[in-house]
Amino acid sequence: MYYVSVMAPTVTLTPRGVERAKSGHLWIYRSDLADVQAAGGDVVQVVGPRGRPVGEAFYSDRSQIAIRLVTHSAVAKPAKGAAKAPEAQADGALWRHRLEQAITFRESLKIDATAYRLVHGEGDLLPSLVVDRYGDYVVLQTLSQATDRLMPEWTRILNELIAPKGILARNDGRVRGLEGLETKVEVVSGDVPAHVEVNEGRVRYDVDLFTGQKTGLFLDQRENREAAIRYAHGRLLDCFSYHGGFALALAPHCTETIAIESSDEASAHIRDNAKRNGIERLEVRTANVFDELREMDRGDERFDTIVLDPPAFAKSRAALPKALAGYKEINLRALRLLKPGGILVTCTCSHHVDEATFGEVVYAAALDAQAQVSVIEKRMQGRDHPVLLGVPETYYLKCFILRKL
Ligand code: SAH
Repeated sequence: MYYVSVMAPTVTLTPRGVERAKSGHLWIYRSDLADVQAAGGDVVQVVGPRGRPVGEAFYSDRSQIAIRLVTHSAVAKPAKGAAKAPEAQADGALWRHRLEQAITFRESLKIDATAYRLVHGEGDLLPSLVVDRYGDYVVLQTLSQATDRLMPEWTRILNELIAPKGILARNDGRVRGLEGLETKVEVVSGDVPAHVEVNEGRVRYDVDLFTGQKTGLFLDQRENREAAIRYAHGRLLDCFSYHGGFALALAPHCTETIAIESSDEASAHIRDNAKRNGIERLEVRTANVFDELREMDRGDERFDTIVLDPPAFAKSRAALPKALAGYKEINLRALRLLKPGGILVTCTCSHHVDEATFGEVVYAAALDAQAQVSVIEKRMQGRDHPVLLGVPETYYLKCFILRKL
């Protein structure tokens, strides 16, 4: 249905919806909407039951997340005597301001890599927009109806701000379906080659921007790989290796490396990247980590450093009990395979598994493994993937670095 009005598109919230906006969350569910005078993909004025302004938002007529706030009236109101905040109106000037802020922040981080995240959706107050840099190229994802409609704006502003050689839209993710958007991968500006070489510290990677997982690499783990270098030693086992992220970063500090990865294609990338980086003592096993750990546990293989970086086992709340059992199993096996003094780098990237829950799982695994374990570092996704307070979903990656005593 197409709605035409001379008034700005407006969505009215229920009192519960207003409370949620006040809590700092950016998402308001459809069940908390009282009235909608807008079409899917509109940038809307959001008001409370008596017409009081709440903010401005991206509106979706399909997904359960109907509203994604881009401004909060209470926050955006300029202080007395202050210049009008650019936040006062959600328009082209605001998009430019937000992109500029996000990019300037990344520059301030002095990241020792040519691939990193420039815009992390909610964490940069641009909900449902992801922008990653891979050398001279940019990969973006528009994950809601409104950010999708604004594609020409994002490409125009990114070209003005950083002039990449090409921009690729990797809009083949599952969440687009929830928005009723088609999944597609397309070059939206300039040219984008099939392969791009990037570096993370000393490690060089060949990245396929069109088909790699996420936007090509797991950029969110970059700082955890850097941190793990400080402790890596002896025999290394990198589980769920993808293109060898942890294996390649840690191998120079270890005597021998085994990477386990279930996908043939990803395994080929690990081998290729190892060659590219002159790393020799690296064995790739294309296998299921669960089976392989069980096998090794039966045998007498032991390791000094183990990395567990599984995909999100809990994609929904309903899947949580099974997911926790999975996390416990791999952590239990890894702790048994670890020599005393050994290091376990263990991660979960599921936002349904919060830090406390993950801590409990690891503790239960340690008890069952009859291991005494100390916590060396509690880490999260890299600083280029900032968490927004009030939006717990943005704190998705937890990474503990543990030592078996
Ligand atoms: N550690 C990587 C990212 C891992 S992503 C990095 O730093 O870049 C998770 C990887 O686990 C994916 O490549 C996926 O193919 C693989 N995978 C998923 N289930 C698996 C299983 N049961 N056994 C082995 N690999 C698995």
